[in-house]
Amino acid sequence: MFPKDQKTAYIRIAEGCSLHCTYCIIPKLRGPYQSVPIEYILNDFNHCLNADIKEIILVAQDTASYGKDLQHSNMTLSRLLIQLAEKIESLNCKTRIRILYMNPQHINDALIQTIKRYPSICPYVDMPIQHACDDVLKKMNRPYTKTDLYRLIEKMRSNIPNIALRTSLLVGFPGEKENQFQELIDFVQDIQFDHLGVFDYSDSDDLASHHIKDHVDDMEKEARHHELMTCQADISYQRQQRYVGQVLDVLTEELSDDDPPLREGRTVFQAPEIDGLTLIAGHKVEQGKIYPVRITQAMHYDLLGEIM
Ligand code: SF4
Repeated sequence: MFPKDQKTAYIRIAEGCSLHCTYCIIPKLRGPYQSVPIEYILNDFNHCLNADIKEIILVAQDTASYGKDLQHSNMTLSRLLIQLAEKIESLNCKTRIRILYMNPQHINDALIQTIKRYPSICPYVDMPIQHACDDVLKKMNRPYTKTDLYRLIEKMRSNIPNIALRTSLLVGFPGEKENQFQELIDFVQDIQFDHLGVFDYSDSDDLASHHIKDHVDDMEKEARHHELMTCQADISYQRQQRYVGQVLDVLTEELSDDDPPLREGRTVFQAPEIDGLTLIAGHKVEQGKIYPVRITQAMHYDLLGEIM
């Protein structure tokens, strides 16, 4: 059972992780990647639809790896999404599907085409790249290069022009030199992600990365973190301006702390908890509904709008 006002729900489609990023303890703690059998996912999905959930968010350590561990099965994230999106189409309902945490090396053409094809799948890709310098990526054991990232992002944007891209980055990885950090800044400025989170490297002696030379001190990590976030704040502000004047579907949530309060909500381009909000004036706007909203102003992270 979901509380009456809950209109967003998460479905975990896999447990564990079989990748071996050198800075991460999760595979040791949670074991290898194990896809949840599709029958369970469909069951949870139908349960959400019956409860009138308006946004269903698929999560895993790497959602794009879904199905790779299932022997004698051709199941993939793309095929799973097709089943879910067609279920929504058959019911003619407005529920939307969002996918979080897709590692870039597993985002393939079929997945891009599926996101493009179904209106119920948010045109939103959350792709943790961690870094953009090839040497750092190699030491992190992330199996792609900066060139691969450029190609992938170009492909996603040319296929889905309105796509919102989110990434997360790790700063202060052992051995990260100033020029390598600047390479990351240049990449971020070049790509112009819509949303970006930054994490500072956190050391532990049971991590493979612990044994890499030249650890970055905490003050330097903090300075790099701050520099990246300052850079992203300007990018985010510029990216958000394209929504001004557009009419976007907004799923309404709680009231804000403003006086008078505004109704908070999210477009398909805003994930809960991690991205900005769309704020709507007017006390008659109800919670848990999808309204067409004209965006009137874009701030660094939030949008302001009015109901049409
Ligand atoms: S960072 Fe993510 S993909 Fe890498 S090992 Fe950890 S959980 Fe797996």
